[in-house]
Amino acid sequence: MSRNAAKLSIFAAVLLAGSQLANTPARTADAMPWANPALSPDQRASLLEAQMTDAERLQLIHGIMGMPIFGTVPPADAIGSAGHFPAIPRLGIPAIEESDASIGITDPTNVRPGDVATAFPSSAALAAGFDPAMAYAQGQVIGAEARAKGLNVVLDGGMNLTRDLLNGRNFEYLGEDPLLAGTLAGNATKGIQSNHVISTMKHFAVNAQETARHTVNEIADPAALRESDLLAFEIANEIGQPGSVMCSYNRVNGPWACGDDWLLNQVLKQDWGYPGWVMSDWGAVHSADYANNGLDQESGQQLDSQTYFDAPLRAELASGKISHARLSNMVQRILRSIFAVGLYDHPVPSKRQAIADGKGFGTGAIDYEAHKKIAGRAADGGIVLLKNEGLLPLTAGKTIAVIGGHAEAGVLAGAGSSYVTPYGGAVTIVAIGGTGEMASFNQMAYEPSSPYVAIDQRAGKTKVVFDDGRYPSSAAKTAAGADIAVVFATQFAGEGQDAPDLSLPDGQDAMIEAVAATNPHTIVVLETGGAVKMPWLSKVAGVLEAWYPGEDGGQAIARVLYGEVNPSGHLPMSFPRDESAFPAWQTGKDQFGPTVTLVEGSDVGYRWYNRQTTKPLFPFGYGLSYSNFGYSNLQVTGGNGLSVSFDVTNQGKLAGADVPQLYLTGKYLRLLGWQKLTLAPGATRHVTLSVDPRLLADFDSKHNTWTRAAGKVEVAVGHSSADFALRGDAGLTAISVKP
Ligand code: BGC
Repeated sequence: MSRNAAKLSIFAAVLLAGSQLANTPARTADAMPWANPALSPDQRASLLEAQMTDAERLQLIHGIMGMPIFGTVPPADAIGSAGHFPAIPRLGIPAIEESDASIGITDPTNVRPGDVATAFPSSAALAAGFDPAMAYAQGQVIGAEARAKGLNVVLDGGMNLTRDLLNGRNFEYLGEDPLLAGTLAGNATKGIQSNHVISTMKHFAVNAQETARHTVNEIADPAALRESDLLAFEIANEIGQPGSVMCSYNRVNGPWACGDDWLLNQVLKQDWGYPGWVMSDWGAVHSADYANNGLDQESGQQLDSQTYFDAPLRAELASGKISHARLSNMVQRILRSIFAVGLYDHPVPSKRQAIADGKGFGTGAIDYEAHKKIAGRAADGGIVLLKNEGLLPLTAGKTIAVIGGHAEAGVLAGAGSSYVTPYGGAVTIVAIGGTGEMASFNQMAYEPSSPYVAIDQRAGKTKVVFDDGRYPSSAAKTAAGADIAVVFATQFAGEGQDAPDLSLPDGQDAMIEAVAATNPHTIVVLETGGAVKMPWLSKVAGVLEAWYPGEDGGQAIARVLYGEVNPSGHLPMSFPRDESAFPAWQTGKDQFGPTVTLVEGSDVGYRWYNRQTTKPLFPFGYGLSYSNFGYSNLQVTGGNGLSVSFDVTNQGKLAGADVPQLYLTGKYLRLLGWQKLTLAPGATRHVTLSVDPRLLADFDSKHNTWTRAAGKVEVAVGHSSADFALRGDAGLTAISVKP
């Protein structure tokens, strides 16, 4: 198209948008009874849906990626994001503008040229914070930035349990425990939706690996799934009430998740009473029949082999295979969430309106500096101190060698659809290349927060030198000349690919060994997606796990190294010694693709390691502080429910935050609760935890109930899943409750 023709077509689109708006009736309760906020979201959705034509209904149930891709160009009034559904102005239905997600608002393929957003630490770091209030605060910022950019659905809420530590998306998820993951995802959703912007939860369900993610069949006992992966979603749904749920690419016990009657109709909609809509993952629809199995909306339709929820679905409506009532229900679910979350009553400024008003559409005012502080707090709270032989916190006056990890530039980010172009722009991008669906996303981007600079700012008058760490001999020589060596080790991870093993890539293990051999005062700072092996552990004096710490990550690492922040992160996933500790998943093949039998069942992560004789290198829940905390006065009250209280005392000399954890012990090991609390030196706080009854029960698939026989339960309060300070027990009555 010539430039003039392009201009003309944009002009035509503007005129069209303007003329449609000119015909838009006022959103008064007379003209549009569903505009009345006194009615329930269900009543409003049903009144509105009844006015729609079938063409309008269909328009809401399938949509494009909102960026020029695979030959499609989104309409001029699309914001530019992962997903776009046009507005229906005559009925006051806003355009749906969907964006990723949990680490911040993304700008895929630079579709909003030059746009940036607050880049939070990875979700694994959020999980390590064990802090629901932080999850809420992060969600609040992400939702506010979405709104300011004209986006109204955030594809947040990634919480597939970390079953396989090699999963390339573990950095986007919230660890291996259902209570932790569900609680944090629910609070993040609440934070997002406090802006009247819809959040999802995803990927429903058991998207446990990236390898063959479109075809793999995850095989597991349905009861075990109820007690693990599905429990995380169940809890998140209760806390956060997300407007939408994104089903996953993979298969679960046979059917594809987005066409799985059991997952979508029975578990989600029937058992949990979920009233919102189910959207597909991008490219996860293989048939119009999925509508009958619970899928309400086809997303990113360019990625499916055809747009199933358009012509094929119309054909099935005509043949009666899909009922008209079901089509109405699909649409009502979408509209219901638009009302329930407050999007209808508090519309996000629309590009369509801005165009009609003759204004340009830019991003609304965002206080990126203020938001960066919140990203920094998230990083502070998530950094886990794994080892400290007394070198930390650092004091000024020591000469320091900073080595490796592009620490002179910034901190590593994970790749894929969740990647956020940070405020300030990425400082270094190393393209990795490769092939496959996510090849163009396959790049190591460094956020603009250099740990080297941050250390230098705190080191006082002493020298801080840098070695890029490529040659072990050079790194060792640099380290030998300094009082302390701080080595930055990175492990890149991204969507669409799994790690081949748990080692640090690019010879970094050898480099660390060489540095530690010349300088016993070596601290290793890990920037990883999840667990890695540490063959050099006994030779170094300290280790910090900083995950992908986000746009303030370099400063956060330095704050922890220098004790401005007392570390309080705890591992949300076990770090085994090596891969031999993994469950021996049975792999095979059926006519549609590979199969993986999840032999660990509901014993994901630490529950699995608890069944083994080999102990992990660092257990779930583990994390050191520069202070130390003592627990006393345990009281366990049983009966119908279980309530546990105890005192936490800061026995150290520094103020700091602790995460006392309550576990079920005995037959099973299960996290029952925790609290993150900050205590001054010498201070004591009384903590009371009431336990979710599902954590004390088993799921009985035959009767579709959570059941527990009457009897005694044993519990322990500890510093991690493998370090208990107090033990107690209580008698509980029997229960049998429907989900
Ligand atoms: C991912 C989703 C994401 C979607 C839209 C897919 O590739 O699996 O998590 O929300 O793309 O970008």
